[in-house]
Amino acid sequence: MTDPISLALVGLGTIARNQHLPSLADTPTLALKAIASRNAGLDGLPSYHDIDALLGAEPDIQAISLCTPPQGRFDQAAAAIRARRHVMLEKPPGASVAEVQALADMARAAGVTLFATWHSREAASVEQAREMLRDATITSVQIDWKEDVRHWHPGQEWIWQPGGLGVFDPGINALSILTRIMPEPVHVTAASLEVPANKQAPIGATMEMVSASGIPVSAVFDWRQTGPQTWDIIVETTAGTITLRNGGAQLFEGDIQLVQAEDTEYRRLYARFAELIAAGQSDVDLSPLQLVADAFLLGERIEVAPFHE
Ligand code: NAP
Repeated sequence: MTDPISLALVGLGTIARNQHLPSLADTPTLALKAIASRNAGLDGLPSYHDIDALLGAEPDIQAISLCTPPQGRFDQAAAAIRARRHVMLEKPPGASVAEVQALADMARAAGVTLFATWHSREAASVEQAREMLRDATITSVQIDWKEDVRHWHPGQEWIWQPGGLGVFDPGINALSILTRIMPEPVHVTAASLEVPANKQAPIGATMEMVSASGIPVSAVFDWRQTGPQTWDIIVETTAGTITLRNGGAQLFEGDIQLVQAEDTEYRRLYARFAELIAAGQSDVDLSPLQLVADAFLLGERIEVAPFHE
């Protein structure tokens, strides 16, 4: 067996601790060797204040996984690519579409892998739904993505700032599934963005989309949902209804449940990162981020009541 690829993690926040660390521990093709964090350290691993210090001190680390907010990600990824390291990006891959396109060009020129991850595409139902829809006649799609921001994003100031996406931070997960399971591309025709008077990003949003052949897709994103949380995509076809529930963990055909599986999204992402590196390839699909960008371009902005945690 070849040696595992040495990797460093940058940004030890919620997702790094909840998903990246346990998933890396379960990925034999990668070995966590260092971290960069402004505030935290991990027992037994070298820790650096920022990525520049890490890159300078650790020339043998081959890959970097960025778990920081999207706004600072371009500079971090660019520094890693310039230092000829492979780079894995959390979703959303950046604060703008063009900056990630620039990173993809830089990675190609440097001969390193860039992996713009979409963890929800690794949910258990997604590939089966994609197969089922390949030859189906789809008549409409409805996305309902409603959760409680106070529960999921306490204290995350960046998420309300420009580039933080607001309710599209979870909503882009639905769009990453949509763009994977639809047999043809969709584009935005209208949107509305409800922005709290004291914030810069939406707390609620709607999107109307349409596919190339005219299939209508509607989406509702809401961060004010208390009680049961909703992460559903309902696809109507001439043969019946196909529903992805719970962020794609469950799949239903009518009332019959086809899939219910444990969450292995981040393990699958890290296994794929190692495969991409071994194959000398990159994977950068910007279609979910493009849809969000277009919602901001076309969306009617509606000011709503201030939000306080
Ligand atoms: P978070 O809890 O706020 O953690 C982000 C970490 O990044 C911070 O703890 C900090 O780590 C570092 N950081 C560097 N510069 C920062 C800055 N200017 N402001 C704030 N933090 C900064 O965020 P998160 O929820 O882990 O989200 C990080 C990324 O993962 C986002 O793109 C998000 O969309 C994605 N994601 C999150 C979830 C989730 O459920 N939370 C799920 C999937 C994907 P140090 O103190 O170590 O420097």
